Amino acid sequence: MLLEVKNLRVAFKRGGHETVPVRNVNFSVPEHGRVALVGESGCGKSLTALSLARLPPTDRANISGTTSFTGRRISYVFQNPSDSLNPVMRISAQIREALPKGMTRSAADAKAVELLARTGLPDPVRAARAYPCELSGGQQQRAMIAMALAASPDLLVADEPTTALDVTTQKQVLELIDSLAAETGMAVLLITHNLGLVAGRMDEVNVMYAGQIVESGPVLEVLANPRHPYTRGLLAAVPALDAPRDAPLADIPGTVPPPDQWPDGCAFSPRCAFADDRCHREMPSCSTSGAVRFACFHP
Ligand code: SF4
Repeated sequence: MLLEVKNLRVAFKRGGHETVPVRNVNFSVPEHGRVALVGESGCGKSLTALSLARLPPTDRANISGTTSFTGRRISYVFQNPSDSLNPVMRISAQIREALPKGMTRSAADAKAVELLARTGLPDPVRAARAYPCELSGGQQQRAMIAMALAASPDLLVADEPTTALDVTTQKQVLELIDSLAAETGMAVLLITHNLGLVAGRMDEVNVMYAGQIVESGPVLEVLANPRHPYTRGLLAAVPALDAPRDAPLADIPGTVPPPDQWPDGCAFSPRCAFADDRCHREMPSCSTSGAVRFACFHP
């Protein structure tokens, strides 16, 4: 296994009070695998991803559990490239920083152009010389992907890589990640709130709610027969192309509460149509059905 995360817990202490936005998370990514972490904003997906490389502010975050990574490098692509790129450095200089040390300046510049060309930028030489503000959002995200590739990662963590982009560019960026993963053999951990992006693209899916993985398994099995009401809600919220134009969009009632207000029992119970007394009292443990794992009393 390339990445194995066991009992990951991330806690923050403020004013003597502890909040735990990531609670006993377990998942793995095989070599060359394609795994998704799916859930609404505020469910702990990004914090989980950052914790793999111990990136949350460690002076405040208390991270426990084990993360075993048998590869050499993890690269990240974040959701808003304009926040991640340095606005006062040319793109080539930013890519050079991620290249192996010891390359000559001209070799590193040539490599930066080559990496930008691999991401499909139409004029990679111009893009290499540009400052981030001279590129569109989609071009900036391609530059971020080029930086990620510069480190020859074994695992690419793509954290909502298309959120800030228009629909057409979203598709192009996701297809680019797919094709680069196939070409280089790197594994991909895709973090998204959109279960629709996972179908046909990922092998395994982990659905996360309130800091916990509530359902996981092979994508085809989970999407064909979701056991957890939250997974069902996320699936129903994916707009269907053949739905009547005036059909109301499905949603999940309510919102994800902040970590210091997660309820006792099943954290999804205030929003779940199937909740009963037991759901409000007890936290469901993990059950399995074939290769699918879920935490629900009434799957
Ligand atoms: S355990 Fe109960 S509240 Fe939680 S998801 Fe299942 S049915 Fe809903």
